[in-house]
Amino acid sequence: MTTAFFTDERCFWHGGGNYAFTLPTGGLVQPGGGLPESPETKRRLRNLLEVTGLLRDLDVRSAPEASWEEMSRVHPESYLRAFKAASDAGGGELGLRTPFGRGGFEIAALSAGLATAALRAVLAGEAANAYALSRPPGHHCLPDFPNGFCLLNNIGIAIRAARAEGRIGPVAVVDWDVHHGNGTEAVFWDDPEVLTISLHQDRNYPLDTGAVEARGGGLGEGYNLNLPLPPGCGHVAYLHAFDRVVLPALYRFRPETIVVACGYDASALDPLGRMLCTAETFRAMTQAVKQAAADLCGGRLVLVHEGGYSEVHVPFCGHAAIEELAGSAIRAPDPLATTLEKRQPAASFDRFAQAWIDEAAVALGL
Ligand SMILES: [Zn+2]
Repeated sequence: MTTAFFTDERCFWHGGGNYAFTLPTGGLVQPGGGLPESPETKRRLRNLLEVTGLLRDLDVRSAPEASWEEMSRVHPESYLRAFKAASDAGGGELGLRTPFGRGGFEIAALSAGLATAALRAVLAGEAANAYALSRPPGHHCLPDFPNGFCLLNNIGIAIRAARAEGRIGPVAVVDWDVHHGNGTEAVFWDDPEVLTISLHQDRNYPLDTGAVEARGGGLGEGYNLNLPLPPGCGHVAYLHAFDRVVLPALYRFRPETIVVACGYDASALDPLGRMLCTAETFRAMTQAVKQAAADLCGGRLVLVHEGGYSEVHVPFCGHAAIEELAGSAIRAPDPLATTLEKRQPAASFDRFAQAWIDEAAVALGL
């Protein structure tokens, strides 16, 4: 069995809004530039996979749009109707930094559909594991409030669909996007069958969520783990976070499937993060979840693309993750590797970050 790779050019056609970076234009903010969530990071990843030849070793597929019924298992009908109506009327914006154009509803449904099909393919045993190049991303989207470039909660829709089909038992979502996975946390807040783990930069977006103390509620209490990390963490600190928090939590919970909210904005070059990860960090994190999936889940592992805003660096980080996922020997050496190696934090910072992580692990009961 091979690695399935779900992608669709239509996802790259999503757009809308008048922004200069994250600021609405007007007043003193000169028009132009656009949101950092541009199609190029994702399209260039797909292109790099084609140029190196790795794409030919993957089972490349598209998928149908997520159905209204599938979306409504996560999002209230009132939100879906408002989104569809605005999309049909030429586009608009219903939340915070989530503009869309005409047809944006269908593109967001397609993005969720790619994630849903990726999970379905792995659960059906059609693929060893899978990657969904979803766009727009999903992990910030609350059931009734789109935010942070996310219009539908792709992973939430995928897991709920699999559950409705009776295909999935306990599942863990590991979110290594540099921002807190507030949407995924909200969707599964009171659900003890879904362990949500988010590693994120402390006091980045959203500013008011992502604390260690937010552990889930009701029956789901204890099944939401947040690990905020100090700005400046690099390869060593991220691997320590895996050894001390992510992996112990996975082995304690023993999921039957692992889904990764796979953002690349902890890259050292990302304009929306202040971390120092390299392509090798994303390779190592993929190796770690792949090993956990082999030990716990019969290998069932799905990576769903989230953020990552360096058009130059995301393709190399993503290629490294997909090399590991597919067990391929094809390499796309990161031209920035030497520079980023030299920019890793000093040993004294790594010790500080490790102590910070150790303290959080204790607070999380790990
Ligand atoms: Zn992000």
